[in-house]
Amino acid sequence: MKATPQHQETLLELNRIDLQLRRNQKQIDEINRGEQVQAQRQLLLANSERLLVARNELDALELELTRAETDLKLVEGRIAKDETRLQQSSNQKDVQGMQSELQSLAKRKGELEDAELVLLERKDEILANLKTIELERAEIQKTLEILESEQTSGLAKLNSGQQLLREDRARNLGLLTAEVSEHYEKLFSRGLGVGRLDGLICDACGMTLSGDSIDAVRNTPADELAHCGECGAILVRF
Ligand SMILES: [Zn+2]
Repeated sequence: MKATPQHQETLLELNRIDLQLRRNQKQIDEINRGEQVQAQRQLLLANSERLLVARNELDALELELTRAETDLKLVEGRIAKDETRLQQSSNQKDVQGMQSELQSLAKRKGELEDAELVLLERKDEILANLKTIELERAEIQKTLEILESEQTSGLAKLNSGQQLLREDRARNLGLLTAEVSEHYEKLFSRGLGVGRLDGLICDACGMTLSGDSIDAVRNTPADELAHCGECGAILVRF
């Protein structure tokens, strides 16, 4: 098929435009599917659930702490009262009774203080966990915002890029003869393109041409289209 070297260069350019159009379209489809945004929304939902669990845990623990503090105050009040009574009493039997009560109150106080310590440690753990969840949340929200704004601006940019490429494509296609452009369109629709011969390698498929293939290419006149014997792409030799 006749094609001037100029037309063959045009075919290379046309193929470059078509590949770019295809890549852009893939990006547009990806953005429209919004998989990344969906994934972030899922993360945000999971984070909300964890946040709720941690906050409920903190509320329950604070309630327990309040109860423990109240119990401790009651025991401390009772001890203070008993100690006052002890100082004022001279009755041996009363003194013994109060001393024994003070002993068990001291034991109870110790137990309550230990329990309070355990609760305070647990509170620290929950607060640290809450902080981690909140930091993760801020991160997810930030990413989501970026993705959503990229979705809008990215689509606008890609769509206007596609428009320019399509105009470029039509202009290049108009430079070719009907026969060559039809041949190219047919090849491209079959997934084949245009490559340049680089030494013995076709840069469309990256294969080294066999002896027969390279002979066939060399025997093709410069103003005719040659094809890669390996992949079938149009092969430009200059
Ligand atoms: Zn090839």
